[in-house]
Amino acid sequence: MKEEFVQKFRELTESARRPAVITHFDPDGDAVGSALGMALYLQKKTKNKVPVLIPNTDPAFLQWLPGHDQVVFYDRDPEACARVIQASDLLILVDFNVRNRLKKMEPCVFASRIPSVLIDHHPDPDLPAILVISDTERSSTAELIYDLIMRCGDAELIDTDIAVNLFTGIMTDTGCFSYNASRPRTFEITAQLLQYPFNKDTVYRNVYDFYSEQRMRLMGYCLHQKMKVIPGCRTAYIALTRKELEDFHHEPGDTEGFVNLPFSIRGTLVTALFTEKDDHVKISFRSRGSFAVNTFASRYFSGGGHFHAAGGEYPLPLDAAVQKFTEMIQQHKDEIRD
Ligand code: 5GP
Ligand code: MN
Repeated sequence: MKEEFVQKFRELTESARRPAVITHFDPDGDAVGSALGMALYLQKKTKNKVPVLIPNTDPAFLQWLPGHDQVVFYDRDPEACARVIQASDLLILVDFNVRNRLKKMEPCVFASRIPSVLIDHHPDPDLPAILVISDTERSSTAELIYDLIMRCGDAELIDTDIAVNLFTGIMTDTGCFSYNASRPRTFEITAQLLQYPFNKDTVYRNVYDFYSEQRMRLMGYCLHQKMKVIPGCRTAYIALTRKELEDFHHEPGDTEGFVNLPFSIRGTLVTALFTEKDDHVKISFRSRGSFAVNTFASRYFSGGGHFHAAGGEYPLPLDAAVQKFTEMIQQHKDEIRD
């Protein structure tokens, strides 16, 4: 992180009176943890309540995070979001790199012309921000935010609530330190966060042991009936229809993690999860080894993301998206290596 960026962030946040923090559609643990960690930190700096704006509802397993009552969801109350933005003098955007990750909230944010700062760890950020702090070498945006706060000389402003949020961001974006977590810095920061008085095991249970019975059955159904292996491509995928999701009383976040399940099959290097939505198919891609799923997602599925974790969309019907994927993976199979 360049010193010049840290200084600029300090100036902007020290002169802001009413900042707001914004994160992406279908928020995950790093999105919500980073946004709340940042909001609680800015709150201490400005001595004003700092709202967090999110395009749609987050999973129940994130709703216990400290400061969660400060979140305004665009899908529930678009007018309230517009009012928050209009009343703000600085927008801090966290954990996303392109405008359309805000979905329907996008115009409301970018038409406002309120200065914005982007803090993120995805490649190729492309957003109209006056300051972009982007580091793809970070496990998570939460990790980057911790260092930014420290570099601003604000160590004493970090409290247990901020630490819990940032820890949750790091824990979820690394799959409990199972991927994208080989850099010592990730563990150094985690160790520093654990010095605050909270129980890591409780955080784990709040996040990973908070699913409904139906979600566990949906997972069993996926593994037993729905997982397909593409022969000769070291690739496996799961495709779920809306009806199947409804049959299992699907709640936001229920399919979180399903995309990783096929990696437990020896030799699997690429996985995908297709979910049928009202007007499109949403796809998650993951890889291990040499295959860049962000390039693949942007080339064929109007998406993007990280080298090993990306997402995209495809027009309905579901079968057409699966077929496109199968064909394209076969075309690229020589690039899929350890
Ligand atoms: P997930 O599969 O968990 O939804 O997303 C994995 C990663 O892919 C996220 O970090 C996100 O940056 C990226 N991603 C997911 N969906 C999209 C999309 O529709 N467009 C872009 N550009 N990136 C996406
Ligand atoms: Mn992230």
